[in-house]
Amino acid sequence: MSLANGRPYLAIPGPSVIPDRVLRAMHRGSPNIYEGPLIEMVAGLWPDLRSVAGTTGHVAMYIGNGHAGWEAANANLFHKGEKALVLAVGQFGLSWANSARAMGIEVEVLDFGKSSPADMARVEAALRADKGHKIKAVLTTQVDTASTIKTDIPALRAAMDAAGHPALLAVDCIASLGCDEFRMDAWGVDVLVGACQKGLMTPPGLAFIWFSEAARLRCGKSDLATPYWAWGPRAEAEEFWQLWNGTAPTTHLYGLREALDMIHEEGLPQIWARHRTLAGAVWAAFDAWAAGNPAIGMNVSDPRHRGHSVTAARFGAPHATRLRDWCETKAGVTLGIGLGMAPSTDPAYHGFLRVAHMGHVNAHMTLGALAVMEAGMTALGIPHGPGALAAAAQVVAKGA
Ligand SMILES: *Cc1c(COP(=O)(O)O)cnc(C)c1O
Repeated sequence: MSLANGRPYLAIPGPSVIPDRVLRAMHRGSPNIYEGPLIEMVAGLWPDLRSVAGTTGHVAMYIGNGHAGWEAANANLFHKGEKALVLAVGQFGLSWANSARAMGIEVEVLDFGKSSPADMARVEAALRADKGHKIKAVLTTQVDTASTIKTDIPALRAAMDAAGHPALLAVDCIASLGCDEFRMDAWGVDVLVGACQKGLMTPPGLAFIWFSEAARLRCGKSDLATPYWAWGPRAEAEEFWQLWNGTAPTTHLYGLREALDMIHEEGLPQIWARHRTLAGAVWAAFDAWAAGNPAIGMNVSDPRHRGHSVTAARFGAPHATRLRDWCETKAGVTLGIGLGMAPSTDPAYHGFLRVAHMGHVNAHMTLGALAVMEAGMTALGIPHGPGALAAAAQVVAKGA
């Protein structure tokens, strides 16, 4: 028998759950793209996009996913042959490095492995060693969605300042914007990469680059910035079509408008607190399960280094895959695969999964997902410690 009928819950780290309000806002015919309500509505998006990022800087929007966001940042930050220093704490840092390398940018990767935070002393040393200031920008994720490690952005900025290095700081916040606290200007971030399908609760299709005036002046017109990717005409568009270098993503823009309204109504500090509390509930459950089975454990041991929107964990192969299958087919909860921990052809791959608690998620969804996981472990005979659900409920009770 299956108990999966009812509203399913996609608890993977993107695309995230789309609010009904966003879906309803998108349910409309094509608007006029030359004049009228669409043009007026879009004018109001930019101040709200700035406020979500904590910046008074420039915003360029692209029709694209997160990978497009990386290429947009690369194309404007670097000329061909210029150098990037990339911090990797999991698959996403490595993938950003690959995209830069493929575009002809020289890349130095500081790889901290898959479950340790970036060591800022190493970053500072790498910058000090770059006496000729060949490194044009430092690239990092705020939260690497594969390892779920959160990088301390103010600490990174401090390391860059301590080294006295002029490199720009570019941060990929795709998995964390609208979930984890982020303050672009206050933290000295020059370029921010975002996408709409995670904390911003909109179907995949929009990528964003926020960039400081300092970044605009330092980068000039790059030889990599073809007309489609150049951020200048988008950020300073004189005509509506220039905002997307072509037809506007009309339906998505209505969805984004609604999502930004929802973010404004709840308030960023409340959103950050909600994600912190729901993450805490998930972590409390894992601590309890792990106490009864050493094969179970979160990927990041120190909670200070964990992102608040997604938690990567191991269950011992093949139990992570068995549990994911059970949760989806028997209970309507889809958990995330383990990403970048082992190749999909390696039996070890089946020992990893991720639980997302990202975006449009509330206490009953997270507690429900945890209860379903526990039911699955019981049904499948996966040993686990007791008290996980009570521990998660305690965290929710305290945080609410
Ligand atoms: C999801 C994600 C990406 C890639 O986004 P796509 O839309 O899949 O291209 C990049 N970086 C981070 C941190 C992400 O979470």
